[in-house]
Amino acid sequence: MDFIKIEELEVYAGHGVFSEETRKGQMFYVNAVLGTDLRGAGLKDELTLSTHYGEVCHFISRYLKEHTFLLIEAAAEHLAKALLLDFPLIRELTLEIRKPHAPIGLPLSSVSVQIKRGWKQVYLGVGSNMGDRRGYIDRAVEGLKGCPEIRNVKCSGFITTKPYGGVEQEDFLNGAIELETLLTPEELLMFLHELEKEAGRERKVHWGPRTLDLDILFYQEYVSDDPRLTVPHPDMENRMFVLVPLSQLCPYYKNPVTGQSVKQMLKELEKLKGPWEGQERTENRKTAGKA
Ligand code: ATP
Ligand code: CA
Ligand code: CA
Repeated sequence: MDFIKIEELEVYAGHGVFSEETRKGQMFYVNAVLGTDLRGAGLKDELTLSTHYGEVCHFISRYLKEHTFLLIEAAAEHLAKALLLDFPLIRELTLEIRKPHAPIGLPLSSVSVQIKRGWKQVYLGVGSNMGDRRGYIDRAVEGLKGCPEIRNVKCSGFITTKPYGGVEQEDFLNGAIELETLLTPEELLMFLHELEKEAGRERKVHWGPRTLDLDILFYQEYVSDDPRLTVPHPDMENRMFVLVPLSQLCPYYKNPVTGQSVKQMLKELEKLKGPWEGQERTENRKTAGKA
């Protein structure tokens, strides 16, 4: 990753918890490190291939003057999001807002907050085995595309699979989805649950029939073993219906826990269960599959 650094940009604005601070205002200083790819602009000497740091500075100044926050934490959070949404070539951003004249009744040289935010690469598993399966999945994809904090949504092909986990039920339609998001893993899971709810998803039987199931398979390098959100998805290496579509999107993407690529996981699973096409042919025998 390359960086553009903005140091000590001065902005006179009115953020603070005291009415005096909002009324009179004071000087804030902003430092920003913009993570981006500068290779193309560097080789071609072409501004449109980079992020115009002058425009970024004016954006920051305007934003901090036009909005009023009690906390510099909130000013930084909202400004970081606005910058990432407005300047698409910025992949990540370290933002510091310094407030040297904070009225705390004691001498201090400065106080500041610093945050790091950015677009995260995510892979989802999607499945449905009730009603208009493809319709539920398409609406979920539209829902993802409609979220401002999600971009570059891309779908794998969809495959029909036999249910997995022993519950007698209809065949599944399964696929994988690639996207980038500014949402945290927990926020993304909440959003996926909303999309499942909109599809009328009910959780009656564990691993039972569902209109829509959206699982987080990978969230960049993030690792969590919390049962409420386990990432990477703990059972993915045993699921043909996850690995087959996922390998269309990102065959060389590595599981951050095991170091195994999607392609390697699929190869290992095919050694146990036979190649995917073979599995299709033995659909009537007891095979695996669930969302
Ligand atoms: P499985 O996760 O084995 O595929 P499932 O999809 O049928 O099973 P659900 O009933 O959809 O399971 O979800 C149960 C709970 O799993 C969710 O409420 C959620 O909190 C939790 N969960 C844990 N890790 C993840 C993850 N990576 N993606 C989605 N949900 C997860
Ligand atoms: Ca799920
Ligand atoms: Ca699932």
